Amino acid sequence: MFDTLQDRLQSAFKSLRGKGRLSEADIDAVAREIRVALLDADVAVPVVRDFIANVKERARGSEVSQALNPAQQVIKIVNDELVTILGGETRRIQYAKNPPTVIMLAGLQGAGKTTLAGKLGLWLKGQGKSPMLVAADLQRPNAVNQLQVVGGQAGVTVFAPEPGNGIGDPVKVATDGLAEARRTLHDVVIVDTAGRLGIDAELMQQAADIRAAVDPDEVLFVIDAMIGQDAVVTAEAFLEGVDFTGVVLTKLDGDARGGAALSVRSITGRPIMFASTGEKLTDFDAFHPDRMASRILDMGDMLTLIEQAEKALDTEQAAKDAERMLGGRFTMDDLLTQLEGIAKLGSMSKIMGMIPGMGQYKDQINNFDEREFDRIKAIIKSMTPAERDNPKLIDGSRRTRISKGSGTQVKDVNNVVDQFFAMRKMMQQMSKGGGMPGMPGIPG
Ligand code: GDP
Repeated sequence: MFDTLQDRLQSAFKSLRGKGRLSEADIDAVAREIRVALLDADVAVPVVRDFIANVKERARGSEVSQALNPAQQVIKIVNDELVTILGGETRRIQYAKNPPTVIMLAGLQGAGKTTLAGKLGLWLKGQGKSPMLVAADLQRPNAVNQLQVVGGQAGVTVFAPEPGNGIGDPVKVATDGLAEARRTLHDVVIVDTAGRLGIDAELMQQAADIRAAVDPDEVLFVIDAMIGQDAVVTAEAFLEGVDFTGVVLTKLDGDARGGAALSVRSITGRPIMFASTGEKLTDFDAFHPDRMASRILDMGDMLTLIEQAEKALDTEQAAKDAERMLGGRFTMDDLLTQLEGIAKLGSMSKIMGMIPGMGQYKDQINNFDEREFDRIKAIIKSMTPAERDNPKLIDGSRRTRISKGSGTQVKDVNNVVDQFFAMRKMMQQMSKGGGMPGMPGIPG
């Protein structure tokens, strides 16, 4: 899911690499790429339009951050806007003051309602609840039996109509189920309802009747994330026909383009509350807009890091440093300032852990000796101001003196000096363009 969208967004951001500031034309170009990427992912047109307008306005606007380079700024803006269209805050189930809490499921046939009933039952059990499933989908021949199976797997009680008793009347089954739950002290009732392959008036009426009869605390509209542009029409029809308090996205594990996930909240104004990511009962969790956005951007916790950098760096100082370094005048003092800036962000292993793609270096990260930083700092501090300013002065005898002064070995001093020159070379290359959108102050 979202693979193509991810790739397209990454390549849009790539075009901003090495830019010192964004021109109007840069913003237009990146906005155009993002727009096409979203449309190709089946995100609804009005949603894309608003999204792009906001990104452009913010990229042009005042929030030019000293701590972030242009690529990072755009990534951050896109992330924020994704979180917004996905609903902002995580929305939790609102439990009734007087149990049982009634949760009704609605959606097209095949959306994954029955499976969801089992998943939600299991999840609620994990939350310390005692749920009961009610089989009010009497349309699909096997639905009652299927609910009994998933209920069994989840270890959750299922209320099903006795053959010959109430068959054919889903409203009666739903109200009987609710009464049974009250009697047996279940604190959450999940009512599965019938779906059709397409939207039809009778289906909507039935769902509306069940709704009126059981007065649910939550009505969850279940939608298959793979249905593409149809999501908009389906969601609008259910909103009008039944109304709902929240959305559950299913089949997020599929390889489709996933536009439903990105459109449904904006189109309906209702929060996405849960997401299903597979056929197993455990492939299910509460939906977190911020986590989903960073998953779409494939940024790991890069954004957290960007935010921390923004907070930690003294922006005025950072601007001065950047100017000097872009002029090719990177000194040992700069290196020291950078190291101290990193120290402000937190431990190195934590920082590395937040950078996407670093998972493969887990062992090295865990073995990273935080004291290495201190050693480097001690070495630089043992240099004279002249040496820091012009490290070319640091010959053999000076290296011996510095190692003694810092309590390190000559080879440690050699390493620092070599690394310094390697960094300076890289910075000079970056300032000539083609740089990477790396962290501010973390060379490379
Ligand atoms: P209902 O008609 O809405 O009750 O839908 P079902 O619960 O019967 O689900 C329809 C099909 O989708 C079944 O084969 C489920 O196993 C499958 N399904 C449900 N949720 C998911 C999911 O999140 N991912 C995948 N891959 N399949 C799912």
